[in-house]
Amino acid sequence: MDENTGSGLVSSEGDGWVYLDHAATTPLAEEAVSAMRPFLEGRHENPSASYGGSAKRAVEDARGKVASLFDTDRENVIFTGCGSESDNMAVKGVFETEDGDHIVTSTIEHPAVRNACSFLERKGADVTWVSPDEDGRINPSDVENAVREDTILISIMHANNETGVIQPLREIGEIADENDVLFHSDTVQSAGKIPTPADEIGLDLASLSAHKFYGPKGVGALYVRDGTELEPLIHGGGQERGLRGGTENVSGIVGMGKAAELALADLEERKNRLSGLRERLIEEVRGRTGARLVGDPENRLPGYALFCFEDMSGPEIVEALAERGIAASSGSACHSGDPEPSRVLKEMGVERKYATGTLRISMGRKTTEEDVDKVVKNLEEITEEVRSSK
Ligand code: PLP
Repeated sequence: MDENTGSGLVSSEGDGWVYLDHAATTPLAEEAVSAMRPFLEGRHENPSASYGGSAKRAVEDARGKVASLFDTDRENVIFTGCGSESDNMAVKGVFETEDGDHIVTSTIEHPAVRNACSFLERKGADVTWVSPDEDGRINPSDVENAVREDTILISIMHANNETGVIQPLREIGEIADENDVLFHSDTVQSAGKIPTPADEIGLDLASLSAHKFYGPKGVGALYVRDGTELEPLIHGGGQERGLRGGTENVSGIVGMGKAAELALADLEERKNRLSGLRERLIEEVRGRTGARLVGDPENRLPGYALFCFEDMSGPEIVEALAERGIAASSGSACHSGDPEPSRVLKEMGVERKYATGTLRISMGRKTTEEDVDKVVKNLEEITEEVRSSK
């Protein structure tokens, strides 16, 4: 079992596997590869060099494309090394900069935010951890009740990586605004899949990762609203408006820009198509295997569904699917193969007999109805086999 993908196989689209683990990572779009190639093969100049015209222009062009995901200007985008770095930069950067030490976050954040907040607790921060309801949603009034005079930051993710449940960000943005508190959101799973307009949502900071929307791995970005002060995580030579030292990963950034452009170009069409496939999947899996859907049925990412199979092992279902040529995950990629129920499901109050049998299916732009039918048919057979062997 590959502990990073939980799928036990190395797969890309078009190689015969049905790849349904897009929440873990997506393949690199061919268009992104083509855009990156000149910067891998010949155009090697440093974007900061005075003669570095074409590299600098390419980075700035990509910055504009990534900014479009947030419906904002390029000045508000800082390139980083990954989504985890962006999360750390936001949370730790605000703590280092702002007067006050109270942070409000949730118990279902990705470990990049959760562990950054725990680290800050050890450094003297006071963190209020808001729990979700049984549908995996954070109640905005719980966030409002947690805010105090000395609150410096609210950090709530846009869509959860395990359940796909979308959080009520606009309401939380209003609370942040009314209380004059900075608002960060981990938009790693949502950006490029649903609209993420920073001003409309009321975001001051938002994290991105290219490999979740058909860009390369190892490149991320942080939306930093103009005027937001932030201490850098990586001090260095003044790159990225002095907020992130280090020579930029030019080819990666160019690939990210291309991927952002592609994601935006057919966002609505893809959103509708994947929502339709998701509904078909949910209805069929529930009807033919008796599995439960975990999390809010309405507010969820297109193409994402998390199922619970009573008294079964999620990793075993994932392995059985892999043997039949289907890549999926037993929940959070980082926890795959771990028989302990995930923290997110515990927080949602999912009973242990269900929480150990989870299967996350996350579709992408090349997923078809035939792929959905194939996974449903195989799940029906697998669950029947498991039940009859008991
Ligand atoms: N935040 C969320 C919600 C994620 O799903 C992930 C990756 O799974 C990350 C952050 C981390 O992104 P990266 O892999 O680029 O560090």
